Amino acid sequence: MSLTQLSERDPLVAQLIQKELNRERTQIELIASENFTSAAVMEAVGSVLTNKYSEGYPGKRYYGGCHVVDEVEQLAIDRVKELFGTAFANVQPHSGVSANMAVSFALLEPGDTILGMSLAHGGHLSHGSPANYSGKLYKVYSYAVDTETERIDMDEVLRIAKECKPKMIIAGASAYPRIIDFERFAAVAKEVGAYLMADIAHTAGLVATGYHPSPVPWADVVTSTSHKTLRGPRGGFIMTNNEEIATSIDKAIFPGAQGGPLQHVIAGKAVAFGEAMQPSFKAYAGQIIKNMQAMAEGLTEGGLRLVTGGTDNHLALVDLTATGMPGSEAEVLLEQVGITVNKNVIPNETRPALETSGIRVGTAAMTTRGFDDEDAREIGSLIAQTLFAKDDADTLAAVRARVTEMLAQHLLYPELV
Ligand SMILES: *Cc1c(COP(=O)(O)O)cnc(C)c1O
Repeated sequence: MSLTQLSERDPLVAQLIQKELNRERTQIELIASENFTSAAVMEAVGSVLTNKYSEGYPGKRYYGGCHVVDEVEQLAIDRVKELFGTAFANVQPHSGVSANMAVSFALLEPGDTILGMSLAHGGHLSHGSPANYSGKLYKVYSYAVDTETERIDMDEVLRIAKECKPKMIIAGASAYPRIIDFERFAAVAKEVGAYLMADIAHTAGLVATGYHPSPVPWADVVTSTSHKTLRGPRGGFIMTNNEEIATSIDKAIFPGAQGGPLQHVIAGKAVAFGEAMQPSFKAYAGQIIKNMQAMAEGLTEGGLRLVTGGTDNHLALVDLTATGMPGSEAEVLLEQVGITVNKNVIPNETRPALETSGIRVGTAAMTTRGFDDEDAREIGSLIAQTLFAKDDADTLAAVRARVTEMLAQHLLYPELV
Protein backbone atom coordinates (compact mmCIF):
# COMPACT_ATOMS: atom_id res chain seq x y z
CA MET A 1 0.00 0.00 0.00
CA SER A 2 1.43 3.37 -0.89
CA LEU A 3 0.40 6.80 0.28
CA THR A 4 -0.35 7.88 -3.28
CA GLN A 5 -3.45 5.69 -3.09
CA LEU A 6 -5.47 8.61 -1.83
CA SER A 7 -5.14 10.59 -5.04
CA GLU A 8 -6.28 7.54 -7.01
CA ARG A 9 -9.07 6.40 -4.66
CA ASP A 10 -10.42 9.79 -3.69
CA PRO A 11 -9.01 12.62 -5.76
CA LEU A 12 -11.41 15.10 -4.20
CA VAL A 13 -10.06 14.64 -0.67
CA ALA A 14 -6.49 14.41 -1.97
CA GLN A 15 -6.93 17.73 -3.76
CA LEU A 16 -8.30 19.39 -0.64
CA ILE A 17 -5.28 18.23 1.38
CA GLN A 18 -2.99 19.56 -1.35
CA LYS A 19 -4.92 22.84 -1.28
CA GLU A 20 -4.45 23.16 2.48
CA LEU A 21 -0.72 22.41 2.12
CA ASN A 22 -0.51 25.20 -0.44
CA ARG A 23 -2.41 27.57 1.86
CA GLU A 24 -0.04 26.79 4.72
CA ARG A 25 2.93 27.32 2.42
CA THR A 26 1.80 30.68 1.07
CA GLN A 27 0.96 32.48 4.35
CA ILE A 28 3.09 33.60 7.27
CA GLU A 29 1.28 31.72 10.03
CA LEU A 30 0.98 33.80 13.20
CA ILE A 31 -2.03 32.18 14.88
CA ALA A 32 -0.62 31.70 18.38
CA SER A 33 -2.33 28.34 18.98
CA GLU A 34 -1.04 26.74 15.78
CA ASN A 35 2.19 25.06 14.76
CA PHE A 36 3.60 22.81 12.04
CA THR A 37 4.10 19.32 13.41
CA SER A 38 6.93 17.19 12.04
CA ALA A 39 6.57 14.78 9.13
CA ALA A 40 7.49 12.04 11.64
CA VAL A 41 4.51 12.92 13.84
CA MET A 42 2.21 12.96 10.79
CA GLU A 43 3.49 9.55 9.73
CA ALA A 44 2.60 8.12 13.15
CA VAL A 45 -0.85 9.76 13.06
CA GLY A 46 -1.47 8.35 9.59
CA SER A 47 -0.58 4.79 10.65
CA VAL A 48 -2.43 1.47 11.12
CA LEU A 49 -2.76 2.27 14.82
CA THR A 50 -6.01 4.02 13.84
CA ASN A 51 -7.51 0.53 13.42
CA LYS A 52 -7.14 -0.66 17.00
CA TYR A 53 -9.71 -0.49 19.79
CA SER A 54 -8.09 -0.31 23.22
CA GLU A 55 -10.56 0.93 25.82
CA GLY A 56 -8.84 0.94 29.21
CA TYR A 57 -5.17 1.46 30.00
CA PRO A 58 -1.91 -0.42 29.27
CA GLY A 59 -2.18 -3.92 30.78
CA LYS A 60 -5.88 -3.41 31.66
CA ARG A 61 -7.83 -3.40 28.39
CA TYR A 62 -11.34 -4.40 27.41
CA TYR A 63 -10.16 -5.82 24.05
CA GLY A 64 -7.71 -8.48 22.93
CA GLY A 65 -4.71 -7.82 20.73
CA CYS A 66 -3.61 -4.75 22.66
CA HIS A 67 -0.02 -5.78 23.47
CA VAL A 68 1.44 -3.50 20.80
CA VAL A 69 -0.68 -0.43 21.55
CA ASP A 70 0.07 -1.03 25.25
CA GLU A 71 3.71 -0.39 24.41
CA VAL A 72 2.82 2.66 22.33
CA GLU A 73 0.75 4.24 25.09
CA GLN A 74 3.25 3.34 27.83
CA LEU A 75 6.03 4.94 25.79
CA ALA A 76 4.02 8.16 25.46
CA ILE A 77 3.30 8.13 29.22
CA ASP A 78 6.94 7.48 30.16
CA ARG A 79 8.19 10.20 27.84
CA VAL A 80 5.76 12.87 28.98
CA LYS A 81 6.54 12.05 32.62
CA GLU A 82 10.25 12.52 31.96
CA LEU A 83 9.71 15.65 29.86
CA PHE A 84 7.71 17.50 32.52
CA GLY A 85 9.00 15.75 35.65
CA THR A 86 5.59 14.52 36.75
CA ALA A 87 4.68 11.31 38.60
CA PHE A 88 1.49 10.38 36.70
CA ALA A 89 0.16 11.17 33.23
CA ASN A 90 -2.85 10.35 31.09
CA VAL A 91 -2.23 10.75 27.35
CA GLN A 92 -5.70 9.74 26.13
CA PRO A 93 -7.60 13.08 26.04
CA HIS A 94 -8.71 13.72 22.46
CA SER A 95 -8.19 17.47 22.92
CA GLY A 96 -7.44 20.19 25.44
CA VAL A 97 -11.11 20.61 26.28
CA SER A 98 -11.52 16.84 26.81
CA ALA A 99 -8.61 17.00 29.27
CA ASN A 100 -10.20 19.88 31.18
CA MET A 101 -13.58 18.15 31.20
CA ALA A 102 -12.08 14.97 32.64
CA VAL A 103 -10.38 16.92 35.43
CA SER A 104 -13.70 18.55 36.30
CA PHE A 105 -15.42 15.16 36.34
CA ALA A 106 -12.64 13.78 38.56
CA LEU A 107 -12.53 16.58 41.13
CA LEU A 108 -15.96 18.27 41.12
CA GLU A 109 -19.66 17.57 41.46
CA PRO A 110 -22.18 19.45 39.30
CA GLY A 111 -23.06 22.68 41.10
CA ASP A 112 -19.61 23.11 42.68
CA THR A 113 -17.92 26.49 42.39
CA ILE A 114 -14.94 27.08 40.10
CA LEU A 115 -12.79 30.19 39.65
CA GLY A 116 -11.12 30.75 36.28
CA MET A 117 -9.78 33.55 34.14
CA SER A 118 -12.46 35.47 32.29
CA LEU A 119 -12.71 34.58 28.59
CA ALA A 120 -12.83 38.30 27.76
CA HIS A 121 -9.46 38.74 29.49
CA GLY A 122 -7.60 35.84 27.93
CA GLY A 123 -9.06 32.74 29.58
CA HIS A 124 -10.44 29.73 27.68
CA LEU A 125 -14.05 28.68 26.98
CA SER A 126 -13.52 25.59 29.13
CA HIS A 127 -12.61 27.74 32.16
CA GLY A 128 -16.26 28.62 32.84
CA SER A 129 -17.86 30.22 29.78
CA PRO A 130 -21.69 30.03 29.95
CA ALA A 131 -21.69 28.54 26.42
CA ASN A 132 -19.44 25.65 27.52
CA TYR A 133 -20.01 22.55 29.73
CA SER A 134 -17.86 24.29 32.37
CA GLY A 135 -20.30 27.18 32.62
CA LYS A 136 -23.37 24.96 32.50
CA LEU A 137 -22.34 22.36 35.12
CA TYR A 138 -20.56 24.54 37.66
CA LYS A 139 -21.06 27.81 39.46
CA VAL A 140 -18.51 30.10 37.88
CA TYR A 141 -16.57 33.04 39.25
CA SER A 142 -13.94 34.77 37.13
CA TYR A 143 -10.88 36.89 37.66
CA ALA A 144 -9.94 39.56 35.12
CA VAL A 145 -6.70 41.40 34.39
CA ASP A 146 -6.08 44.71 36.14
CA THR A 147 -7.48 47.63 34.07
CA GLU A 148 -4.25 49.64 34.46
CA THR A 149 -1.48 47.04 34.17
CA GLU A 150 -3.52 44.60 32.04
CA ARG A 151 -1.86 41.82 34.06
CA ILE A 152 -3.30 39.25 36.45
CA ASP A 153 -3.39 40.81 39.92
CA MET A 154 -2.77 37.96 42.38
CA ASP A 155 -4.08 39.98 45.35
CA GLU A 156 -7.34 40.36 43.45
CA VAL A 157 -7.41 36.60 42.65
CA LEU A 158 -7.00 35.92 46.38
CA ARG A 159 -9.76 38.40 47.27
CA ILE A 160 -12.24 36.76 44.84
CA ALA A 161 -11.19 33.26 45.95
CA LYS A 162 -11.87 34.16 49.59
CA GLU A 163 -15.24 35.55 48.60
CA CYS A 164 -16.47 32.66 46.40
CA LYS A 165 -14.64 29.76 48.10
CA PRO A 166 -14.17 27.69 44.93
CA LYS A 167 -13.59 23.95 44.94
CA MET A 168 -11.17 24.43 42.03
CA ILE A 169 -9.13 27.37 40.73
CA ILE A 170 -7.99 27.33 37.11
CA ALA A 171 -4.74 29.06 36.14
CA GLY A 172 -3.90 29.28 32.46
CA ALA A 173 -4.90 31.28 29.42
CA SER A 174 -5.28 31.40 25.65
CA ALA A 175 -4.43 35.05 25.14
CA TYR A 176 -2.19 36.30 27.95
CA PRO A 177 1.28 37.53 26.97
CA ARG A 178 2.90 37.40 30.41
CA ILE A 179 4.31 34.79 32.80
CA ILE A 180 1.67 33.12 34.97
CA ASP A 181 2.74 32.77 38.61
CA PHE A 182 1.68 29.18 39.31
CA GLU A 183 3.45 29.13 42.68
CA ARG A 184 1.36 32.08 43.86
CA PHE A 185 -1.81 30.49 42.42
CA ALA A 186 -1.03 27.38 44.47
CA ALA A 187 -0.67 29.50 47.60
CA VAL A 188 -4.07 31.10 46.94
CA ALA A 189 -5.65 27.68 46.33
CA LYS A 190 -4.14 26.34 49.53
CA GLU A 191 -5.36 29.34 51.52
CA VAL A 192 -8.98 28.80 50.45
CA GLY A 193 -8.87 24.99 50.37
CA ALA A 194 -9.32 24.67 46.59
CA TYR A 195 -7.75 22.38 44.05
CA LEU A 196 -5.46 24.12 41.56
CA MET A 197 -5.70 23.08 37.92
CA ALA A 198 -3.04 24.63 35.68
CA ASP A 199 -3.87 24.61 31.96
CA ILE A 200 -0.67 25.00 29.92
CA ALA A 201 -2.31 24.32 26.53
CA HIS A 202 -0.50 27.29 24.99
CA THR A 203 2.82 27.31 26.81
CA ALA A 204 3.59 23.56 27.14
CA GLY A 205 6.58 23.76 24.77
CA LEU A 206 7.98 26.68 26.76
CA VAL A 207 7.32 24.93 30.09
CA ALA A 208 9.00 21.71 28.88
CA THR A 209 12.16 23.66 28.03
CA GLY A 210 12.26 26.01 31.01
CA TYR A 211 11.20 29.16 29.14
CA HIS A 212 8.07 29.44 31.29
CA PRO A 213 7.99 28.38 34.97
CA SER A 214 6.45 24.91 35.36
CA PRO A 215 3.23 24.40 37.31
CA VAL A 216 4.04 20.71 37.82
CA PRO A 217 5.57 21.20 41.32
CA TRP A 218 2.67 23.44 42.42
CA ALA A 219 -0.64 22.46 40.84
CA ASP A 220 -2.77 19.49 41.91
CA VAL A 221 -3.27 18.75 38.25
CA VAL A 222 -1.90 20.11 34.97
CA THR A 223 -3.71 19.87 31.64
CA SER A 224 -2.38 20.66 28.19
CA THR A 225 -2.79 20.30 24.48
CA SER A 226 -0.04 18.63 22.47
CA HIS A 227 -0.39 20.73 19.31
CA LYS A 228 0.42 24.35 20.24
CA THR A 229 3.95 25.33 21.31
CA LEU A 230 4.66 21.64 22.03
CA ARG A 231 4.33 21.02 18.25
CA GLY A 232 2.81 17.54 18.41
CA PRO A 233 -0.37 16.09 16.91
CA ARG A 234 -3.77 17.61 17.79
CA GLY A 235 -4.66 16.26 21.24
CA GLY A 236 -4.51 16.66 25.00
CA PHE A 237 -2.91 15.17 28.11
CA ILE A 238 -3.14 15.43 31.90
CA MET A 239 -0.42 15.30 34.58
CA THR A 240 -0.43 15.06 38.39
CA ASN A 241 1.89 14.13 41.24
CA ASN A 242 -0.99 12.86 43.37
CA GLU A 243 -1.73 9.14 43.02
CA GLU A 244 -5.32 9.43 44.25
CA ILE A 245 -6.07 12.22 41.77
CA ALA A 246 -4.36 10.20 39.02
CA THR A 247 -6.73 7.28 39.67
CA SER A 248 -9.79 9.55 39.55
CA ILE A 249 -8.57 11.17 36.33
CA ASP A 250 -8.03 7.82 34.62
CA LYS A 251 -11.62 6.88 35.49
CA ALA A 252 -12.91 10.29 34.40
CA ILE A 253 -11.33 9.89 30.94
CA PHE A 254 -12.41 6.27 30.53
CA PRO A 255 -15.21 5.32 31.05
CA GLY A 256 -16.23 8.82 32.19
CA ALA A 257 -15.78 11.06 29.18
CA GLN A 258 -14.32 9.04 26.30
CA GLY A 259 -14.46 5.62 24.67
CA GLY A 260 -11.57 4.12 22.74
CA PRO A 261 -8.32 6.10 22.79
CA LEU A 262 -6.83 7.33 19.49
CA GLN A 263 -3.68 5.17 19.51
CA HIS A 264 -2.42 6.66 16.23
CA VAL A 265 -2.54 10.11 17.84
CA ILE A 266 -0.99 8.77 21.05
CA ALA A 267 1.87 7.42 18.91
CA GLY A 268 2.18 10.92 17.42
CA LYS A 269 2.29 12.34 20.96
CA ALA A 270 5.07 9.87 21.86
CA VAL A 271 7.07 11.07 18.84
CA ALA A 272 6.49 14.73 19.76
CA PHE A 273 7.46 14.16 23.43
CA GLY A 274 10.64 12.47 22.19
CA GLU A 275 11.36 15.41 19.89
CA ALA A 276 10.76 17.87 22.74
CA MET A 277 13.46 16.13 24.83
CA GLN A 278 16.12 16.89 22.20
CA PRO A 279 18.49 19.87 22.58
CA SER A 280 17.22 21.12 19.20
CA PHE A 281 13.75 21.61 20.69
CA LYS A 282 15.17 23.69 23.52
CA ALA A 283 16.89 25.85 20.91
CA TYR A 284 13.58 26.07 19.03
CA ALA A 285 11.70 27.24 22.15
CA GLY A 286 14.38 29.85 22.85
CA GLN A 287 14.03 31.10 19.28
CA ILE A 288 10.21 31.36 19.68
CA ILE A 289 10.81 33.82 22.55
CA LYS A 290 13.54 35.74 20.69
CA ASN A 291 11.30 36.01 17.64
CA MET A 292 8.38 37.26 19.72
CA GLN A 293 10.56 39.93 21.33
CA ALA A 294 11.78 41.08 17.90
CA MET A 295 8.27 41.05 16.41
CA ALA A 296 7.02 43.07 19.40
CA GLU A 297 9.67 45.69 18.64
CA GLY A 298 8.66 45.78 14.97
CA LEU A 299 4.98 46.21 15.88
CA THR A 300 5.70 48.91 18.49
CA GLU A 301 8.10 50.83 16.25
CA GLY A 302 5.40 50.70 13.58
CA GLY A 303 3.02 52.61 15.86
CA LEU A 304 0.96 49.80 17.44
CA ARG A 305 0.42 49.35 21.18
CA LEU A 306 0.85 45.95 22.78
CA VAL A 307 -1.41 44.95 25.65
CA THR A 308 0.70 45.06 28.88
CA GLY A 309 3.34 46.93 26.85
CA GLY A 310 5.09 43.76 25.69
CA THR A 311 5.33 40.00 26.10
CA ASP A 312 7.22 37.30 28.03
CA ASN A 313 6.09 34.32 25.99
CA HIS A 314 5.25 33.19 22.46
CA LEU A 315 2.37 35.61 21.83
CA ALA A 316 1.37 39.25 21.88
CA LEU A 317 -1.97 41.03 21.89
CA VAL A 318 -1.99 44.04 19.60
CA ASP A 319 -4.30 46.95 20.44
CA LEU A 320 -5.63 48.32 17.13
CA THR A 321 -7.13 51.52 18.55
CA ALA A 322 -4.51 53.70 16.79
CA THR A 323 -5.55 52.28 13.40
CA GLY A 324 -9.28 52.89 13.98
CA MET A 325 -9.86 49.40 12.58
CA PRO A 326 -11.60 46.48 14.31
CA GLY A 327 -9.77 43.15 14.65
CA SER A 328 -12.19 41.53 12.21
CA GLU A 329 -11.10 43.92 9.45
CA ALA A 330 -7.40 43.63 10.34
CA GLU A 331 -7.63 39.83 10.12
CA VAL A 332 -9.00 40.02 6.55
CA LEU A 333 -6.58 42.74 5.43
CA LEU A 334 -3.55 40.84 6.76
CA GLU A 335 -4.70 37.63 5.10
CA GLN A 336 -4.73 39.54 1.79
CA VAL A 337 -1.02 40.36 2.20
CA GLY A 338 -0.21 36.78 3.23
CA ILE A 339 -0.12 37.07 7.03
CA THR A 340 -2.54 34.93 9.07
CA VAL A 341 -3.61 36.19 12.51
CA ASN A 342 -6.82 36.10 14.54
CA LYS A 343 -8.95 38.92 15.86
CA ASN A 344 -8.96 38.98 19.66
CA VAL A 345 -10.71 40.89 22.40
CA ILE A 346 -8.42 43.08 24.51
CA PRO A 347 -8.81 44.20 28.14
CA ASN A 348 -11.36 47.03 28.53
CA GLU A 349 -12.85 45.97 25.18
CA THR A 350 -15.42 48.33 23.63
CA ARG A 351 -16.40 46.33 20.52
CA PRO A 352 -18.49 43.14 20.19
CA ALA A 353 -16.68 39.76 20.25
CA LEU A 354 -17.05 39.22 16.50
CA GLU A 355 -15.37 42.60 15.81
CA THR A 356 -12.87 43.17 18.68
CA SER A 357 -10.25 45.91 19.07
CA GLY A 358 -7.26 43.63 18.84
CA ILE A 359 -5.39 40.87 17.09
CA ARG A 360 -3.33 38.06 18.62
CA VAL A 361 0.00 37.11 17.06
CA GLY A 362 2.32 34.26 18.00
CA THR A 363 5.71 33.01 16.81
CA ALA A 364 5.55 29.23 17.42
CA ALA A 365 4.63 28.26 13.83
CA MET A 366 6.78 30.83 12.01
CA THR A 367 9.77 29.78 14.12
CA THR A 368 9.22 26.14 13.10
CA ARG A 369 9.31 27.33 9.52
CA GLY A 370 12.79 28.74 10.14
CA PHE A 371 12.21 32.48 10.43
CA ASP A 372 14.71 34.20 12.76
CA ASP A 373 14.50 37.34 14.86
CA GLU A 374 15.50 39.64 12.02
CA ASP A 375 12.61 38.22 9.95
CA ALA A 376 10.28 38.51 12.95
CA ARG A 377 11.09 42.21 13.43
CA GLU A 378 10.40 42.83 9.75
CA ILE A 379 7.11 40.90 9.91
CA GLY A 380 6.06 43.07 12.88
CA SER A 381 6.84 46.14 10.83
CA LEU A 382 4.98 44.75 7.77
CA ILE A 383 1.89 44.18 9.94
CA ALA A 384 1.98 47.79 11.16
CA GLN A 385 2.51 49.11 7.60
CA THR A 386 -0.46 47.08 6.38
CA LEU A 387 -2.82 48.19 9.12
CA PHE A 388 -2.03 51.88 8.58
CA ALA A 389 -2.34 51.59 4.78
CA LYS A 390 -5.69 49.91 4.23
CA ASP A 391 -6.60 52.13 1.24
CA ASP A 392 -3.10 52.33 -0.22
CA ALA A 393 -3.00 49.59 -2.89
CA ASP A 394 0.70 50.21 -3.68
CA THR A 395 1.82 49.64 -0.09
CA LEU A 396 -0.35 46.53 0.22
CA ALA A 397 1.07 45.11 -3.01
CA ALA A 398 4.61 45.83 -1.84
CA VAL A 399 3.97 44.06 1.49
CA ARG A 400 2.47 41.03 -0.29
CA ALA A 401 5.52 40.87 -2.58
CA ARG A 402 7.91 41.03 0.36
CA VAL A 403 5.93 38.34 2.24
CA THR A 404 6.14 36.06 -0.81
CA GLU A 405 9.89 36.64 -0.99
CA MET A 406 10.34 35.81 2.70
CA LEU A 407 8.21 32.65 2.39
CA ALA A 408 10.35 31.45 -0.50
CA GLN A 409 13.43 31.59 1.74
CA HIS A 410 11.88 29.15 4.23
CA LEU A 411 10.13 26.25 2.58
CA LEU A 412 7.43 24.45 4.55
CA TYR A 413 7.51 20.63 4.39
CA PRO A 414 10.04 20.45 1.54
CA GLU A 415 9.81 16.65 2.00
CA LEU A 416 6.17 16.70 0.81
CA VAL A 417 5.47 17.15 -2.88
C1 LIG B 1 -6.43 25.72 23.13
C2 LIG B 1 -6.81 25.67 24.56
C3 LIG B 1 -7.62 24.65 25.06
C4 LIG B 1 -8.40 23.70 24.19
O1 LIG B 1 -7.76 22.86 23.39
P1 LIG B 1 -8.59 22.07 22.24
O2 LIG B 1 -7.63 21.04 21.81
O3 LIG B 1 -8.94 23.09 21.21
O4 LIG B 1 -9.80 21.49 22.87
C5 LIG B 1 -7.81 24.58 26.43
N1 LIG B 1 -7.26 25.49 27.25
C6 LIG B 1 -6.51 26.51 26.80
C7 LIG B 1 -5.93 27.48 27.76
C8 LIG B 1 -6.27 26.64 25.43
O5 LIG B 1 -5.56 27.68 24.98
